[in-house]
Amino acid sequence: MGSFPSGIRHDYKDAPPAAAVRPLPAWLWFAAGISTPLIAAMVLILVSTGSETAAVPEIDDLSRAADPVVIANTSQTGFEPLIPDRELSGDRIRMIVGRGDSLGEMFRRHDLSLRDLSEMVELPDAGYYLRMLNPGNEIVVTHDTGRVQSLEREIDDFRALRIVRNSDNFSAALVERPLEVRAAGAHGVIERSLFAAAQDAGIGDPLIMEMAEIFQWDIDFLKDVRAGDEFTVIYEEIWSEGEKLKDGNILAAEFINRGTPYRAARYTDAGGAVDYFTPEGRSVRKAFIRAPVDFTRISSTFDLARRHPVLNTIRAHRGVDYAAPSGTPVRAAGDGTVGFRGARNGFGNTVVIEHGGKVTTLYAHLSRFGDIRVGSRVRQGQTIGYVGMTGLATGPHLHYEYQVDGVHRDPQTATLASSEPVYLADADLAAFRSIAAPLWLELDLHRPTEFRATATY
Ligand SMILES: [Zn+2]
Repeated sequence: MGSFPSGIRHDYKDAPPAAAVRPLPAWLWFAAGISTPLIAAMVLILVSTGSETAAVPEIDDLSRAADPVVIANTSQTGFEPLIPDRELSGDRIRMIVGRGDSLGEMFRRHDLSLRDLSEMVELPDAGYYLRMLNPGNEIVVTHDTGRVQSLEREIDDFRALRIVRNSDNFSAALVERPLEVRAAGAHGVIERSLFAAAQDAGIGDPLIMEMAEIFQWDIDFLKDVRAGDEFTVIYEEIWSEGEKLKDGNILAAEFINRGTPYRAARYTDAGGAVDYFTPEGRSVRKAFIRAPVDFTRISSTFDLARRHPVLNTIRAHRGVDYAAPSGTPVRAAGDGTVGFRGARNGFGNTVVIEHGGKVTTLYAHLSRFGDIRVGSRVRQGQTIGYVGMTGLATGPHLHYEYQVDGVHRDPQTATLASSEPVYLADADLAAFRSIAAPLWLELDLHRPTEFRATATY
């Protein structure tokens, strides 16, 4: 496991970056940006011959190469360097805005000229960004014994405000940071917990949660995950000037749960809608999510060894219990209408949602309710209440029931019958296949074991 040797880089700058990362093939971006099956086939050949370093042209057309969200933040007209070209004399101070900080206080702390500051604040383009500071914003000032030579204020990952001293005044400009989107990947095997495995694999909690959300209709990440389960993610990293800013989107992911593989790849359809699809082109979305507890709030402390088996030992127990801290959001498992909201004997505070087709779900022992009333429409994933221990409960947990015609069923098997799979339309399917084909291969390449999914792709 660990961060991976292969991957793809697309350079958004004219000049090569100074980053000490070895150049990686651009074939995946290349493949993702095309829809011609012939070229896709060529890419597949490159891959299948193991020619990772094959010379593949860089893509000029950014709009085809990466996610539109990223593109929207990059300039099509080239970038100005963030750091002024000419050498500025003086000392450099890097300041991070603290809670309740103002630029005036920060200038005072560093003995910087307040007169310069008031002049800069008057600049038409600068005032807004100098007054509206958020904790964590970074401001870099160069100065000559307090006399400001330049000021740079990070606006977001993509833009900065730059002010420079001219002979008799200051001038301000918004500059865009040169961005690079690199594809990266990671593979992990679960021993103690999903999050420990993610950490071992070198990826952060937000990314592993995003992966868990992709598979939330098929896998109950609080109940189903076992030691030995494996995951692989291919994802974007956003870099600027040799510095990784953040992770981007997951492009493809695989989770092998107790020997059963689940795979999905990201696809943006012609209408701009983004979703994840299986190799067969079926949306990962289903009528019901598996775990109605917001696991992203509790999973970081969740450990396989610390499961609460006691909660499941009551005889004739008709539901599934999720041990979770009080106050953890409880989510509607599917779209529906609130049929009951109130106290119900041993169940304590309870919500029942009617989903149509005689399917109802029940959520019990809630500490309090979400913003719902009887008759309210609720959307899948909407918070309907919070974990608690009202009624007969020995500890905070969610008691969840999935019923068909009043009879309790196993939500997993029953769900399959009640959900209509959504497939990509033919036109999108062809495009999806050509985008996804190299991603499936990339998933295979990052899995050290010889496991091969049984699905055809
Ligand atoms: Zn229960």
